[in-house]
Amino acid sequence: MLISTPSKINFDKNFLYIQWKDGKECKYNLLNLRRYCPCAQCRGGHEVDSIRTTLHIENIEMVSWKKVGRYAISIVWSDGHSNGIYTYQHLRKACDENIEYGDLF
Ligand SMILES: [Zn+2]
Repeated sequence: MLISTPSKINFDKNFLYIQWKDGKECKYNLLNLRRYCPCAQCRGGHEVDSIRTTLHIENIEMVSWKKVGRYAISIVWSDGHSNGIYTYQHLRKACDENIEYGDLF
């Protein structure tokens, strides 16, 4: 499967904005992205029945982001967390299906 890659990435206080190379523009709620951080620590471990530790977060801002290889970005959050790898595949899927990122999991 060919996974689209971003051509532009921006963010403000509430949203992450990605313009993809195929022209599609998407935006993502930052609080939802932070609550559903895909790292093992935030998921509460690797087990299927792990309890996510981040659903109580009420306020978050994005500080910065960087590319991870050719397939993802990582985000530095205002709470100091930065372990999560947000894959283009998941970000694009959430946008294409018109659902929040967290609803993928
Ligand atoms: Zn995390």
